[in-house]
Amino acid sequence: MSNPLPGQLNPSPRLLLGPGPSDAHPRVLSVMSTPLLGHLDPQFLAIMTETQEMLRQVYRTANPLTFPVSATGTAGMETCLVNLIEPGDKAVMCTAGYFGNRMVDIAGRCGAAVTVKEAPWGRTFDLDTLRDVLKAVRPKVLGIVHAETSTGAAQDISQLGRLCHEYGALLVTDCVTSLGCTPVELDAWEVDAAFSCSQKGLSCPPGMSPVSFSPRAVDALKARKTKVQSWYLDLTSIMAYWGGDRAYHHTAPITMVYALREGLRLVLEEGLEARWARHVRNHLALKAGLEALGMEYIAPEGARLPQLNAVRIPDGVDDVGGRKQLLAEFGIEIGGGLGDFKGKAWRIGIMGQNSRPGCVFQVLAALEVVLRGAGVKVGTGAGVAAAEKAYAA
Ligand SMILES: *Cc1c(COP(=O)(O)O)cnc(C)c1O
Repeated sequence: MSNPLPGQLNPSPRLLLGPGPSDAHPRVLSVMSTPLLGHLDPQFLAIMTETQEMLRQVYRTANPLTFPVSATGTAGMETCLVNLIEPGDKAVMCTAGYFGNRMVDIAGRCGAAVTVKEAPWGRTFDLDTLRDVLKAVRPKVLGIVHAETSTGAAQDISQLGRLCHEYGALLVTDCVTSLGCTPVELDAWEVDAAFSCSQKGLSCPPGMSPVSFSPRAVDALKARKTKVQSWYLDLTSIMAYWGGDRAYHHTAPITMVYALREGLRLVLEEGLEARWARHVRNHLALKAGLEALGMEYIAPEGARLPQLNAVRIPDGVDDVGGRKQLLAEFGIEIGGGLGDFKGKAWRIGIMGQNSRPGCVFQVLAALEVVLRGAGVKVGTGAGVAAAEKAYAA
């Protein structure tokens, strides 16, 4: 006898308040059920153009080479590094967390002579430190994470592009968790290559990685002496599809492009400044609540991501048990700690459409139940009350 057919898909309701994926907006899910177009259909080509134009606005750039890579954020990371680095090139990779380490790994696989600049997990780099390493190494590329999702730390990169250019280096930035949540200004900040994802601040499902390359980065690409070793991610040929000619390279994931287009429409309808302010407002309320429940932030004040709240788990509370209870009893997913913070931290993401009071109050109320169940002394409604007060202020 053959096995019975699996039942119809019917996932339990969840509120995704971890480090990603974050819930997709209902309007995004709705456009995903519209019929496919061919990837060379004139209507689809127009959709591509619209998507690229909106992506430029969201990235605050005029870079012609701005498009979504057909895969998740890590593919965007790989696209940036594999296209800009040739074997033997010098690269400086800055790491203060899990995703910085991933950049180090990929740059090494590209054959770069990598100088790893480390900071303790949860901290960020100051400009003087980076100037010293640029001066000493004179790399072709400097890579850094703008929003380090593993620690909740916000790296200021606003002056870094200019500094890199003083030393002849290209600046590559990981904007996976910042785009759609906190300011990203590629042109004003002189960023040469940036990558992001669809499933965090843009409230789409995972599957697309928006990237953007400055004219300086495109020049570096054109000056390569060797072929890009990844066929799929080779911009010199992808450019023919997402650039002028719309020539076949690979079949675009049509439905995901629909989704991204709708996600970008939502961002621009709201307005970037309004969206950034909303993320700060909800963060301040969540922060007041988490602190009232006795939880401390990992990243220092002044360098915290509003969209990713990484806090220490109170003494005596079991990491995995606590998260299991949140999921089973309340349908809420939050993230555990990575690397240095494994078992010691929880990561609460309020990104994109999930950055709203309903999510803040829900997670605080549920956390209170979990903490009290684990024997932590917390006043009834303490987290929720603190958040309410923060909203009123
Ligand atoms: C999520 C994340 C990535 C990886 O993106 P995927 O979509 O999981 O491939 C890279 N960098 C940072 C900072 C992230 O938060």
